[in-house]
Amino acid sequence: MKFYYFDNAATTCLDNDVLKEMLPYSNIAYGNASSSYKLGRNSKIAIENSRKKVANVLGAKPNEIYFTSGGTESDNTALKGIAHANRFKGNHIITSSIEHPAILESAKELEKEGFNVTYLPVNNLGVIDLNQLENAITSSTILISIMFANNEIGTIQPIKEIGRIAKKHNIPFHTDAVQAIGNLRINVDELNIDALSMSAHKFYGPKGIGALYVRETVDFDRFMSGGHQERNMRAGTENIAGIVGLGTAIDLAYKNLEAHNKKIKYLRDYFLNNMTKEFPDIKINGSMKNRLPGNANISFRNVQGSKLLKTLDEVGIYASAGSACSAGITRLSHVLEAIGMPEEYSHNSLRVTIGKNNTKEEVNFLIYSLRKILRS
Ligand SMILES: *Cc1c(COP(=O)(O)O)cnc(C)c1O
Repeated sequence: MKFYYFDNAATTCLDNDVLKEMLPYSNIAYGNASSSYKLGRNSKIAIENSRKKVANVLGAKPNEIYFTSGGTESDNTALKGIAHANRFKGNHIITSSIEHPAILESAKELEKEGFNVTYLPVNNLGVIDLNQLENAITSSTILISIMFANNEIGTIQPIKEIGRIAKKHNIPFHTDAVQAIGNLRINVDELNIDALSMSAHKFYGPKGIGALYVRETVDFDRFMSGGHQERNMRAGTENIAGIVGLGTAIDLAYKNLEAHNKKIKYLRDYFLNNMTKEFPDIKINGSMKNRLPGNANISFRNVQGSKLLKTLDEVGIYASAGSACSAGITRLSHVLEAIGMPEEYSHNSLRVTIGKNNTKEEVNFLIYSLRKILRS
């Protein structure tokens, strides 16, 4: 059965052009990049080419890019690695209450180790308050980590202003840009970003490969112990095919960024406009002004998100809900909770994330199906 994929914030479909570049490194060119003979040197060259592509997109230096196993590892390395390496300077970290679990859980572990963590609240659009951020800074603050764009509601934070505040106080600024890379142009110098996480499978690359940018002036401890790969900062034989895939995917994403974003945003707005017309009492969650182009997150008054998803699944539509039901208990998402969603809309949210492969026909089928389900 044909399916309709509207969950591009969860993962994206690997591009054929990316796969083509990766394939030789899965079998023919399988050399270990640490080996000094030609087969190994070829792998090393492929890695360094990808590193240059990533650095180029960010306006960073190649030696500031570290390949990891994905967004989760990049977030863990940034948070714990920078915290541990700077422990002698202080024990205070500032983050937000709407971060991805990779950050929130890392922060919790650091708290157990004796670090103090401030979780900044957000307003009803999901944006942090810059005055609150600056007021939270103390003489023992050693790291600020605020996500670039939220994975549930798509809200984009005022990254430039956050970077300016961090720089003014001489505190390293990390951003989880897993949702932003491939969607927004990001220059780490213009935005004063000192560390940044990305993950290839969120921009049409392969799963299980990511990168972490860390400015060369910022110290961090390594997360993986072992060999000397990634300039001693991330041990383990490199995932060459994955690294080649990430490099190709990021290149492609930024070559076609404006054209893709225009189409994606058009389809997202088309969906939202139609939904608002059909169902005047729905709520659109998050900021419409500072928002990822493909993100639509809506709440219905009296339809349970998890039930809605199940019915959509039956007709081949894949989307996501704001609350997860586990062991019979429905838990509201920490993000929707943080934006203060009203009680009558709790548990009733639907996240539709549009990607470059979606068509208007698909969006029409989604609207048609929602109408049919909700009106029956
Ligand atoms: C997907 C995601 C991650 C985790 O990345 P993985 O590569 O799946 O480990 C982290 N942060 C955000 C904001 C994400 O959307």
